[in-house]
Amino acid sequence: MQKKELLYKGKAKSVYETENPDYLIMHFRDDTSAFNGERIEQLDRKGKVNNRFNAFIMQKLSEAGIETHFEQQLTEEDVLVKRLKMIPVECVVRNYAAGSIVRRLGLTEGQALNPPTFELFFKDDGLGDPLVNESLAISLGWATQAQLDEMKKLTYQVNDVLSKMFDEGGLMLVDFKLEFGVFKDRIVLGDEFSPDGCRVWDKETKKKLDKDRFRQSLGDVIEGYEEVARRIGVPMAY
Ligand code: 5GP
Repeated sequence: MQKKELLYKGKAKSVYETENPDYLIMHFRDDTSAFNGERIEQLDRKGKVNNRFNAFIMQKLSEAGIETHFEQQLTEEDVLVKRLKMIPVECVVRNYAAGSIVRRLGLTEGQALNPPTFELFFKDDGLGDPLVNESLAISLGWATQAQLDEMKKLTYQVNDVLSKMFDEGGLMLVDFKLEFGVFKDRIVLGDEFSPDGCRVWDKETKKKLDKDRFRQSLGDVIEGYEEVARRIGVPMAY
């Protein structure tokens, strides 16, 4: 499958059309952004690491019965995916408090959220991805109640599969963000799952191994991603 027209350039990935209208090619770039694109840097190996990480996770989710847009890793930085009609919300599950919920509610970072919470954010960089609720998503025609129910169910299923996988690697899956779309009337997991869109801490030391290393200028960002990859069994030899 060949890359055709550039369809969309996001902050970390570029998406291309292919000769088949049902499939797209996602290209993972080394660009790393924070604070809604205010700060952008190139981090060596990031595209390759995230492409492999994502391919590994998507295949594990698929084995667990969760339908994803992942078809096939094409090159070190390219992946073939189904073309979804994206729903413009970010689905976030939090097992522990960190990031925006700490700022919003004055919680203590690392505080357990039991059972895990589910939140929806409107995907809009200009507005800074604001928190929304299901009622608004329905009123504005972004999704139906049945679609939102399915997205929430799938997000919790992903949490069950991945929390266990990360725990076995001595890691805590603190929180993560998923995006879904519609493919032939079914809700399908899209976008990517990588340390760019989740928080992962070492279980013992609570060392941050995800994109917070970049957001908080902690250094060794990609080394953190590679450590997570190694500990959950992602094949990483280049
Ligand atoms: P928070 O709401 O605390 O900023 O983020 C919750 C989780 O969702 C974190 O794991 C964070 O990395 C992820 N997340 C939230 N918004 C975005 C986004 O726009 N892009 C990416 N890659 N991840 C996000």
